[in-house]
Amino acid sequence: MTHDAASVRALLGEILAALASASESDETRSLRERLERFVAHSDDALTSAVLLEASAAPLGAMRVFPKEARGLVGAKANAIKQAALAALAEEEQAALARALAAERSHAGFDATLPPPRQACGSLHPITQVTRELEDLFTSMGWTILDGPEVETEHFNFDALNISPDHPARDTMDTFWVRTAPGDTRLVMRTHTSPVQVRAMRRLQPPFRAIVPGKVFRNEALDASHEHTFHQMEGLVVGQHVSVGHLIAAMKTLLRGIFGREIEIRLRPGYFPFVEPGFELDARCPFCTEGCSVCKRSTWIELLPCGMVHPNVLKAGGIDPEQWTGFAFGLGLSRLVMLRFGIDDVRHLLAGDVRFLEQF
Ligand SMILES: [Zn+2]
Repeated sequence: MTHDAASVRALLGEILAALASASESDETRSLRERLERFVAHSDDALTSAVLLEASAAPLGAMRVFPKEARGLVGAKANAIKQAALAALAEEEQAALARALAAERSHAGFDATLPPPRQACGSLHPITQVTRELEDLFTSMGWTILDGPEVETEHFNFDALNISPDHPARDTMDTFWVRTAPGDTRLVMRTHTSPVQVRAMRRLQPPFRAIVPGKVFRNEALDASHEHTFHQMEGLVVGQHVSVGHLIAAMKTLLRGIFGREIEIRLRPGYFPFVEPGFELDARCPFCTEGCSVCKRSTWIELLPCGMVHPNVLKAGGIDPEQWTGFAFGLGLSRLVMLRFGIDDVRHLLAGDVRFLEQF
């Protein structure tokens, strides 16, 4: 319903007539004067806002009208109110159409202005390095695997040739999950190595795989020890796989991480799931004559590695007479710290935005 000034004035006139039969008081006089002002408005001034007020005035002062006139006054005032609401809706539509037309005519629109800046986060440094390594290894045909963070005692220890009396099983070092007596014993995995055996049981040799993921140790915390940290396991099983292949893979890994050739050395090391086992050191990428990172030695202890122990191959259902393999356990958290110059491992998972904003 659209309003026209003449019909609204007619409605106001009828309300005024009903008011005339009321006994004169200050209130009726004031109302009559206001309604007369609306009637006297020039045509243009009868906006929806004025109309709304003109309908509200008699509705708010209903008791001053004689009883028999109230029905009529209410109907008339409501008609004015309806006209006002219709006029308001029309004005909104018109404003929307004008805005749309202005936008389409490109008035005040500059396509060359930069868009409003959006607050944008960044990838966690661990995620960044993990993705780089995943790209590197998949480009060489390796598979990326995942495994459970809550692991059975069997996969975390027994299948990896770790004897029942090995100190790693001590509650001082390992978070055991509370289970009912007689149920399978569960641990928060202390390394990514259990996925070695899981991989052997799932994949047909030959295969190559990396396993990035979280591991858990019951540690006394300090700048270089955290209860939760990241590792990346690597495993290759094939025919005639040798220590030479292991060294080549490690050199490729370091070239990918540091962007240049890095000298390495192997020292004998004992880990139950490899034989022979090695500690792999890399020439310090930050100095030539010793610095605080390499503790003045120019070598950085980087990762344990070795040829997969025959007992582990057997646990994975693979014949050690036919197949051999090598494995390594890269300390991903440590590598991220080296790469970005982070001096405290506890920063990595503290979730402090001031730290994370720097990457
Ligand atoms: Zn150094």
